[in-house]
Amino acid sequence: MIDNVSALYDKTSSCRHCQATFSTKRIRSGTLTMVHRDSDFYTTFKEQSLNPILYTVNVCPECGFAFTDQFRDKLAPWQKQIVDEQISSKWKPKDFGKVRHVPEAIVSYKLAIYAAEITDQPHSVKAGLYLRLAWLYRLEKNVAEEMRFIDMAVEEYEQSYIHSDYTRGDKEMTEVRLLYLIGELYRRLEKFDLAIKYFGKALAFRNHTIESGIIRMAQDQWQLAREEYKEKKNEQKIG
Ligand SMILES: [Zn+2]
Repeated sequence: MIDNVSALYDKTSSCRHCQATFSTKRIRSGTLTMVHRDSDFYTTFKEQSLNPILYTVNVCPECGFAFTDQFRDKLAPWQKQIVDEQISSKWKPKDFGKVRHVPEAIVSYKLAIYAAEITDQPHSVKAGLYLRLAWLYRLEKNVAEEMRFIDMAVEEYEQSYIHSDYTRGDKEMTEVRLLYLIGELYRRLEKFDLAIKYFGKALAFRNHTIESGIIRMAQDQWQLAREEYKEKKNEQKIG
């Protein structure tokens, strides 16, 4: 059993908009025990209240600019101007640097998504934010909101695939992993034809990748999507 004190630490972050320095919590790597990994990579830990996704977003308490470590390092003058107009001028100082629960984490993601959209961050960065927000709603058992944000995530992941910017948002992301993930998100949205198409693209890497785990997952989920698709078609016939 680990306590919050040893797993959490304060990290000093510097605002990419106003340069203010502030403190934000992080989870010490290696302190959590993984319990389960969902087919879209959402990870459940024994210490769920310390799930690292709660602390991905840095929110500047001074100006309200919210960002992750994957955002572009610098904002261009036009981006600074739009952040000033759309965020900072309306911001009331608020500190996100304390222990976060799911509701505060959800707010932090919505702030980061807004900031990412208006400053035109890479598709992979936006996709990662949408997917993690969907996971937070999964934690809350709010299926409608989970699906709404999975839908937005998959759209950005597809753009990320088209523009090949997927290595920007997530160091672990590879082409085969991205194709698998797009397929899996479409399967969850019950868009089975698209799911099958993307699993097929992932499976085409079968003999050209060392990621045999992903290939195995693509195989299993491709099979599952085909069965679900058949079932859905039968239901429609009967209905
Ligand atoms: Zn700031």
